[in-house]
Amino acid sequence: KTGIFNSLVELDEHQKIPTDPNLDVASYVLSQFPHALAESRIALIDAATNCQISYAHLQRSIRSLAYGLYHAVGVRKGDVVFLLAPNSLLYPTVCLAILSVGAVLTPANPVNTTLEIAKQVADSGAKLAISAPEELHKLISTKLPTMLTTKTSDGTLLSVEELIECCDPIDLPLERPTQTDTAAVLYSSGTTGTSKGVILTHANFLSIISLLKWSVSASSSQDDVFLCFIPMFHIYGLAFFVLGLFCSGITTVVMQRFDFQAMLNAIKVHQVNNIPAVPPVILALVKHASNMKGDLSSLRRLGSGAAPLSKEVTDGFREKFPWVELRQGYGLTETCGAASFFALDEDAKAHSGSCGSLIPHFSAKIVDVETGSPLPPNKEGELWLRSPTIMKGYLRNEEATTATLDPQGWLRTGDLGYFNEDGFLYIVDRIKELIKHNGYQNPQMVKSWIHIYGITGCSRRTGSSTTQPSSNPQIVDAAVIPLEDEEAGQVPMAYVVRASGSELTESQVIRFIADQVAPYKKVRRVGFIGTIPKSAAGKILRKQLISQTQQQLNSR
Ligand code: AMP
Repeated sequence: KTGIFNSLVELDEHQKIPTDPNLDVASYVLSQFPHALAESRIALIDAATNCQISYAHLQRSIRSLAYGLYHAVGVRKGDVVFLLAPNSLLYPTVCLAILSVGAVLTPANPVNTTLEIAKQVADSGAKLAISAPEELHKLISTKLPTMLTTKTSDGTLLSVEELIECCDPIDLPLERPTQTDTAAVLYSSGTTGTSKGVILTHANFLSIISLLKWSVSASSSQDDVFLCFIPMFHIYGLAFFVLGLFCSGITTVVMQRFDFQAMLNAIKVHQVNNIPAVPPVILALVKHASNMKGDLSSLRRLGSGAAPLSKEVTDGFREKFPWVELRQGYGLTETCGAASFFALDEDAKAHSGSCGSLIPHFSAKIVDVETGSPLPPNKEGELWLRSPTIMKGYLRNEEATTATLDPQGWLRTGDLGYFNEDGFLYIVDRIKELIKHNGYQNPQMVKSWIHIYGITGCSRRTGSSTTQPSSNPQIVDAAVIPLEDEEAGQVPMAYVVRASGSELTESQVIRFIADQVAPYKKVRRVGFIGTIPKSAAGKILRKQLISQTQQQLNSR
């Protein structure tokens, strides 16, 4: 009747969010280890090398690295540390050591370009970078003091491995952060086109990991083996694999990146039974089920998140792999990764297409997009969320923060959806300017293509520097829209207005943009157009472009 939907889950005492205002997330995660330590549990296994790390080893490494970061490198509370590396056994140690000294973690996708990395380094105010050796060249132009993750033969830069080897493990934390301090700044486009730093506090992470503990302990046992190919730089991987799962003493098999055959091998070799995944992986399993050289008999649970999972793929998966429970969840970087999920006692099959129900401590409203009033069950509107996991705001961006968080703490998600009368959430569309390609955010929409990447000539590359976006004088206006794609979910398509007399081709535009952005942000199609349709206020009419494009594709 109030138009507010609340989570109905009651938590047990040990699952409750810690209330000590002086608790920080790294101390909390480490305080959950004793059981795993006593049983000599394995925390992490490398899928490629089979190298294994016990909880005891993990604990020592985190403490040694934190000591080294503090005493040898001089990292202090509040310093921002930029992390550029793919998944590895070291990744969680690096994150937890950074958090232990009260520093702020800002991780990035290692496939990002030099330009994208320079932007994040500058925007986050990073003081130190920690980089995988193969990505080091992308940091040179930032002139940031840099450490490597692993040792290299030339030995010119200090590495995390060396610090761990030479520093004694000490009690943590060194400079105790409190719950209200910033723990991490992750980059997301939110509801508008440009990428922004999402401020997540120790309190946000403490909340999400207690809630993840609830969902894991409700559905798993400590003998479970999880597989992680979800990137640890994304909130999904960070909240789940770097922080949350360690609190349940579970073993995680780590893949550096997703590879279909390597995933099948890892499932078989390590008897994996639980995989948090994304829709393209589930589609690939459905497609290759009949001629798959792999054995999925150990698999019991597959989660899907980060992008919509269609009912057809869900049903196809259940038909081909009836012994595996498939459950969809939903969340955003701004909610610390999760918001809804199927609890074990909820029937995911009976609510196919739903993202489950609200996780504990979450409230939601479905708001009429025109009138702003809350709507009852089964009515579609914008989803608003409130919970202790919700970000503090966007870094140094008051305008975006107030546009996204209202004074009562409600987060406007930019997603359209509804709750049915049993409280199950269905996401049906997106009203925000975001393209999701294989679950990755592609925030380079509309304004940002033009202003950040300067494709209409408003800024020019200076000399040989790759930290400035380059412009193309042959393009006078442009817009980017999402195009539905069976495999990747969505791909970016650009509409371009050519300068008069220009004979710019589709492949030239594709190449021009590909040179400046990470592979998952590349434009895959280009349409040439006389003018970009715009409202009287100059806003690009994306919906119109999307439906025109869809009609043209359907009529082919
Ligand atoms: P990110 O901040 O990268 O996690 O992206 C969050 C956005 O991903 C959400 O606002 C949604 O648009 C989308 N998303 C995440 N999970 C789902 C889901 N299960 N169904 C539909 N969209 C989703």
